[in-house]
Amino acid sequence: MTALALSIKNLSKSFDGVNVLENVAFDLPKGKMLAILGPSGCGKTTLLRSIAGFETPNSGSIEISGKEVFGERKYLSSEKRRIGYVPQEGALFPHLTVAQNIAFGLPRNSKRNDRVLEMLELVGMEGFEKRMPHELSGGQQQRIALARALAPDPALILLDEPFSALDTGLRAKLREDIKYALEKSNATSIMVTHDQEEAFSMAEIIAVMRDGKLIQIAEPDDIYTNPKDLNVATFVGETVLLDGYVKGDYVDCPLGTLSYQGNSPEKDKVTVMIRPEQFTIGAVENGIKAQVAKTTYFGHDSLIQMHFGQNENSFASIRVLGKPKVKKGDMVGLQVEGDVVIY
Ligand code: ATP
Repeated sequence: MTALALSIKNLSKSFDGVNVLENVAFDLPKGKMLAILGPSGCGKTTLLRSIAGFETPNSGSIEISGKEVFGERKYLSSEKRRIGYVPQEGALFPHLTVAQNIAFGLPRNSKRNDRVLEMLELVGMEGFEKRMPHELSGGQQQRIALARALAPDPALILLDEPFSALDTGLRAKLREDIKYALEKSNATSIMVTHDQEEAFSMAEIIAVMRDGKLIQIAEPDDIYTNPKDLNVATFVGETVLLDGYVKGDYVDCPLGTLSYQGNSPEKDKVTVMIRPEQFTIGAVENGIKAQVAKTTYFGHDSLIQMHFGQNENSFASIRVLGKPKVKKGDMVGLQVEGDVVIY
């Protein structure tokens, strides 16, 4: 059996009678990185803070590395949970040097200094040990905050939107470096984010939350290609949605008769969800006849909007790599690759 770093069962929390977490339950194996993804106000931070011991849930249980830290008759304080916490910003003690900040949670022994240097190297900040926090950029402060959280080798690292206070340019590099540091130290981590790109580029498992509930927990590819419901589908990427009628293993829609994922639904009338990259554009005779309505070039890719079929409302936005090879008014043939998803 895989060793679990975290096991949460039926966790609920309300503030002033309003449910903020409702029966949240999931397990996280050791060494994995989980992203909790969801819109603002869905309860992500409350979940993270409950795991950390900064909030007390109303019911349910939390186990960290097989040890109950919260339950019906159990409440272990934050310091005793073996967690490292990286907040959005301002985590460092302003009056302590970088080295003193990293050493803060370490036992006073001869190995202390070595561990500080090891952590500085891990986050790419060698030579910064004597600096004060105000002498660091926002991104450097977050690196040191991670180094401090990782130094005592905690069972779980919790990161609460760690890049939200940083410029977009800085974020991509820092994301990569933080992912590297977490992997290299074999840490188990949970990051809260409302940014789907951040969740997909960093995490091995994604938990999608909505209105205090855990809607789906799976690997990123699974969440993207087989979202649990339409809401998750549109939250994690672009979609083309069409009306369809199920006929056995296929679904009839304005883009033809297509195969779908999963078991046959109970109803015939469904919504068909197709990802923009599933389309190919070719000659008119090789697909469903469509007319290009608009093209928008973004550099790395282009958006091509087109009408198809008899119905004026049948409309699809498709992404293609690089510059569009078609222009407004062109007649083309549209094909869909792979299975579609139906709801
Ligand atoms: P964001 O991405 O905006 O930080 P979130 O998904 O992390 O949102 P939470 O911060 O967990 O959401 O908040 C969930 C809900 O609980 C919100 O409606 C919020 O107003 C409410 N809430 C959070 N903390 C408290 C509190 N201490 N007292 C009262 N209500 C709170």
